[in-house]
Amino acid sequence: MINIINEWEFKLSAYLYALTVIGFDNHTIASKDGADYRNERISFLSGEYYNVLTDENIYKTLVELNKDNSLNKKDKRKVKLYLKIFKDAKALTKEEYVEYDKLTLKANDVWENARETSDYKAFEPYLIKLFEFSKYIAKKRNSNVSAYDLFLDDYEEGMNIDKYDEFFNLIKERISPLVKEVNNKQDLVNTNVLNGIYNLDKQIKFNKHIMKYLGFEDSWSYSSVSVHPFTTSISKNDIRITTRYKEDDILYSLFSTIHEVGHGMFEHQLSDEIEGTIFSRVVTSGIHESQSRLFENYLGRNISFWKYNYPILQKEFDFLKNVTLDDFVRSINASKPSFIRTEADELTYPLHILVRYEIEKGVFDGSIPLDNLNEVWNSKMKEYLGVDVPNDSYGILQDVHWSGGSFGYFPAYALGSAYAAQIFNAMEKELDVDNLLETNNFNEINKWLKDKVHNDGALLTPKEILIKATNEEFNPMYYIEYLEDKYKKLYEIK
Ligand code: ZN
Repeated sequence: MINIINEWEFKLSAYLYALTVIGFDNHTIASKDGADYRNERISFLSGEYYNVLTDENIYKTLVELNKDNSLNKKDKRKVKLYLKIFKDAKALTKEEYVEYDKLTLKANDVWENARETSDYKAFEPYLIKLFEFSKYIAKKRNSNVSAYDLFLDDYEEGMNIDKYDEFFNLIKERISPLVKEVNNKQDLVNTNVLNGIYNLDKQIKFNKHIMKYLGFEDSWSYSSVSVHPFTTSISKNDIRITTRYKEDDILYSLFSTIHEVGHGMFEHQLSDEIEGTIFSRVVTSGIHESQSRLFENYLGRNISFWKYNYPILQKEFDFLKNVTLDDFVRSINASKPSFIRTEADELTYPLHILVRYEIEKGVFDGSIPLDNLNEVWNSKMKEYLGVDVPNDSYGILQDVHWSGGSFGYFPAYALGSAYAAQIFNAMEKELDVDNLLETNNFNEINKWLKDKVHNDGALLTPKEILIKATNEEFNPMYYIEYLEDKYKKLYEIK
């Protein structure tokens, strides 16, 4: 009977293949004026996909299989994961599903324009509708669990408000005061040494070099440009990433590229056996983000990484010849409170997430009213990061996630950074990471990651992956201590 499920799963993967390719096209090269025509066809295809996904006969088969004790562990988990999707999908009627899909597509278009013109009032009605629709969806899916708990678990299996409260309290207690201390000692790290104009063609060329260094091969990958950098996995051998270039800032495109390569490498290194199956599709956001953050911060900002790569960068940009390796590495690790999450440094980053977490939590439990959320945003930024948000493009309009109805996603980002600290700690016990980075042997790191983290995808739960990679359950202290050690040293704080 499991064969019926496997054949149906192949059919699903074909629909998803088409929708994913169109989705990538939509976010990169598709024309603005073609949006209405395109969106209507995407809605239709999504409806067709929904019909296949919610096939009643398949549901009955899954229910039967769920009672079958002879299933192996893999099939048992497959049945469990699909039953969850079924139950969630069945919560809405087809009309509601299509209506929601249309709403998110329209909201995304409106958001893109609103972000460009910093016009929150244009986006506000859509954000309100998305929050309200999400509350409705949650209630239909499971009225026994609070809406936000439900969404938090969607993005990170096993997480809920209580667990996140515990994690974010630690961030507030230990990291927030450190951010303030660091901010008082800005003179110690001079980031001006990197000021200059970085020719875009040369940036693209250097990014190509870094992708190759990281083992991100041309034969199975593609890179492009979009408003908001992202990774799309069409299949494990067709991984697409995007970045955004700024002429006066080399670091933005560089580190967003390293970040997305971390995501892409995960997708590429899934085992062949799980390609096209649910195990390749529902890897949790926290686990996924742990890999992008590992690449971006723990490896990409490491001095050993730059011992090999800095001379190559200096060749592209003449004026860097006057900047020493030490000064360069200090610069790329500098910390200063800022407005934009994706440009935030490692230390202030979890506080950006804290702002989003508290707003989402407050909206779902009713303690924060939906009107003028931009003002709530600005006051929380002032409280935790001490910054005055100049306009909504630098505030509530900066991220794409809410425009797609993705609530509960952000907290997993901070969790991903914390998982990464724990995984990096374990990796260093088994590999001479510094030596591998210095000698252009990143493939050894990729091999370790494939074996410990990537191979099984969502066949394992986040908890099981952490135990496999690090021999222990999630322990946030690795993250807290990593941040404290690193930034106290850099900013000479006792
Ligand atoms: Zn990411």
